[in-house]
Amino acid sequence: MKPELLLIGGATPRTMDALEKICTVHRGSEIDDWDQFLDRHADAIQAVATNGHDGLPSEIMARLPNLKVISCYGVGYDAIDAKTAASRGIIVTHTPNVLNNDVANTAIMLLLAVSRRLVRDDAYVRAGKWSGFGSAPLTQSIEGKPVGILGMGRIGETIARKLKAFDCDISYHSRSAKPHLPYTYYDKLADMAKAVDYLIAITPGGSETRHIVNREVIDALGPQGTLINIARGSVVDEPELVKALSDGRLGAAGLDVFEYEPDVPKQLFTMDNVVLLPHVGSATEETRQAMGDLMVENIVRYFTEGKVTSPVPECSALAAGGG
Ligand code: NAP
Repeated sequence: MKPELLLIGGATPRTMDALEKICTVHRGSEIDDWDQFLDRHADAIQAVATNGHDGLPSEIMARLPNLKVISCYGVGYDAIDAKTAASRGIIVTHTPNVLNNDVANTAIMLLLAVSRRLVRDDAYVRAGKWSGFGSAPLTQSIEGKPVGILGMGRIGETIARKLKAFDCDISYHSRSAKPHLPYTYYDKLADMAKAVDYLIAITPGGSETRHIVNREVIDALGPQGTLINIARGSVVDEPELVKALSDGRLGAAGLDVFEYEPDVPKQLFTMDNVVLLPHVGSATEETRQAMGDLMVENIVRYFTEGKVTSPVPECSALAAGGG
């Protein structure tokens, strides 16, 4: 008998085919009455496939007594309580590394789009203003500029490496210094924000990083500074960000993520020093396919070999058989 799997969120036909080869899949999107569904199927469900945005609500995890593996499509898993899962012997997996390049490219695309006012100037041409009013106002170069990266992990390091092509002067803030890297470490985020023109946030979300980019950090970045948030909306104090942009205390922003997605503060819509994206950091066909394949691989390996490929840190001892 195939193990039963609960799918939360969508899946491509390729991912569905692969999951259905090994599991009996219950699609969360087709469940109208969760209480009734759980009463009937909770005991049989051994696996959950989900994504970083939807995660697995704690109240549903609590009702799945025989859950063994949660496979997350995405590297950020702040919407899954991995500590509780580990304490119950449930392995949580995610999809690190395969998305580093495209997420880093999105960060750099936002950096350039904001500094060169790409969206404003595109609108300028489309509105016929070029012929009416002449050249658009000058913009800012990123060449050789100081850039601070908040979160020097897999993606932060990829961004830093790519920004070297623009001769940017890279510094970073993370929980620990990385002496092997040729960048300046700041142990206080506000100090780094004061020293740079561009601040790129690329940490995990969750309670530990909630509003780590607060008013003090935004004011340290200042009216000439630009914030790029490609991490999670929760990392930035969004009302403070909107206020700082409205008051001119912050120069500009490029945002891929928001605190209450898909809701975006409407005040941002009229600001031409802001570029907005609908959380598409990793959203290329190539990267999404690689993420889907890794998400499936973790489930297939769990049920065929008792192992997984990419456990989250909270579950790595469990995945290695360390309990
Ligand atoms: P990673 O390799 O685990 O790196 C995370 C980095 O954040 C590490 O350098 C870590 O510091 C730092 N960090 C964690 N907590 C911190 C804190 N409280 N204060 C300061 N720094 C802290 O993760 P990754 O693969 O690079 O991914 C990072 C995050 O990017 C994901 O968790 C996700 O939220 C986000 N993301 C967004 C998109 C998108 O579509 N926009 C796509 C992919 C990922 P240490 O090195 O000192 O531990």
